[in-house]
Amino acid sequence: MIASKKERATAQKSFIFDYLRSVKCHPTAEKVYEEVRKKLPTISQGTVYRVLNNFKDKGQVLAIDTKENVHFDADISDHAHFICEECGNVYDVYDECSKCGILKNRKTKVGKINKYQIKFYGTCTKCGSRKSLS
Ligand SMILES: [Zn+2]
Ligand SMILES: [Zn+2]
Repeated sequence: MIASKKERATAQKSFIFDYLRSVKCHPTAEKVYEEVRKKLPTISQGTVYRVLNNFKDKGQVLAIDTKENVHFDADISDHAHFICEECGNVYDVYDECSKCGILKNRKTKVGKINKYQIKFYGTCTKCGSRKSLS
């Protein structure tokens, strides 16, 4: 039996979503394409990009903009991100933010917080230690 076009598209979509959910590295669209292609060699770059944007528009994944790129995250729970300005890696920040008063009370002077997106920029510990070695 030959799978219909629609079935194939659904299978591709769930494959991309499963891949995103399985990683913690906040991959870029390019990286997602690279990884997915290993298992689905016939998938096109355009399809991967379209599927990712679709997930984003539906709020199923987060898109984190950095200076150079857009990174995707299937973890849509409230958490902040740390973006390393040296290596461009995107890290999750959970614990520290739960201690922050504003985020804990979900309230500011101007209104109630429903969701948030916080980006920290800096040098990650990996890059920091590499620097101090040289
Ligand atoms: Zn770094
Ligand atoms: Zn994240």
